[in-house]
Parts: sequence; C-alpha cells; structure tokens
Amino acid sequence: MHNIVIFGGPGSGKGTQSVKIADKYGLFHISTGDVLRDHIARRTDIGKVADSYISQGALIPDRLMIKILEDLLVSRKEETKHGVIFDGFPRTLPQAEELDKLVESVGAKIAAVVGLEVPDEELAARMIRRGIDSGRSDDNEQAIRHRLAVYHKQTQPLQEYYAASGRYHAIKGVGTIEEIFDSICAVIDASK
Ligand code: ATP
Ligand code: MG
Repeated sequence: MHNIVIFGGPGSGKGTQSVKIADKYGLFHISTGDVLRDHIARRTDIGKVADSYISQGALIPDRLMIKILEDLLVSRKEETKHGVIFDGFPRTLPQAEELDKLVESVGAKIAAVVGLEVPDEELAARMIRRGIDSGRSDDNEQAIRHRLAVYHKQTQPLQEYYAASGRYHAIKGVGTIEEIFDSICAVIDASK
C-alpha cells in the first residue's frame, strides 16, 4: 500500500496531477474538494454546510472534514487497498495528525508528500482563468484572496510537519503538465 499526499496552494494543479498519478501508480484518488462539491450538487446536509464555507473561500471545520474522510475510507475500503493519492487533505495540522493515525491503524503510512510550489500571482491568475468556465463559487477574486490567505496561514505550515519526518518533497509547480508530472514521478519512485 503506497499512500501519497499531493500538497500545494489553491490552483496549484493538485487535481490535474492527481489524476495522472492515480492512473500511473494504480492509486485511488481522493479529492476532498470534489467530494464536497458532489455533496453540494446533490444538496445533501453536508453539502448545505460545505457550500457556506466553500463559497467564502474558507475551510470546512476540521471535525466535519475528518468525519467525511473517515467515512469515505471505510466505504471505499476495497478500492483504497492498493493506496491512495490524497488531494486537498490534509489542510490543517489536526487533519495531518489524524491522517497519520488513520493510515497507521491499518498498518500503512503516508510515504511521501509532494508539494507543488507555485507563486501566489500565478495561482491567482490560474484560478481567475478557471473561473471563467468552472462555475465554481470560489473561483472569484474575493474568495481567491481569502483562499490564498488561508493557505499561507493554516496549510503551508504542514510543510514543516512533513519535513520533520523527511516526507516533504518540494516540486516546481510551474512548467508544462508533463514536466511537472515527471518531477512528481521521480519523488514517488524514490519513496517506494
Ligand atoms: P487545486 O486547484 O490545486 O486542485 P483547489 O483550490 O481547487 O486546489 P479544492 O481542493 O478543490 O481546492 O478545495 C476547494 C474548497 O473545498 C476549499 O477551498 C475548502 O473550502 C474545501 N475543502 C477541500 N478540502 C478541504 C479540507 N481538507 N479541509 C477543509 N476544507 C476543505
Ligand atoms: Mg482541486
């Protein structure tokens, strides 16, 4: 079981690269953003709560987010048994600690964290561009500004958490999709 976390600011390309990683390494892709947007589209109770945070560019509270992830891992036990690429989770220190506990409880570990490093101006430009046809409630200027601030305050410090256990690997997240993917594969191959 080979579990990988893809890490980076909003719009850093986590989703795009995760699909390629899942395909090449046979990992199950869990995108918490996609899971939440699916709840919103289906108008579930979780979706109603999630919508109010996401549209502001805020994070869903840790307790709720962790519960959603735990439920997902339980219900997808079969699909996740060869490993997972975690995209959009963890975003806070409590989430990172919980994730380590969860995977350790099944005798596994997070083998590597791939950090896509992209300057803020580039992230903002990408999200504005994506917002033209993504239909996402958070790809607008105000939410984008907030998402970047939240990223720096709450999520970026996780680099230290993972670096302390030798698991953080910075990748230059600017370039072609294939160039970035090649750098990611080098990190994943070395973590086996
Ligand atoms: P990328 O473009 O790199 O894939 P993204 O910025 O599009 O990244 P998503 O991962 O799709 O971001 O998340 C969108 C929103 O969903 C977040 O801004 C947040 O409100 C909510 N969300 C997703 N994952 C989490 C999480 N782990 N904890 C709290 N909120 C989350
Ligand atoms: Mg995404």
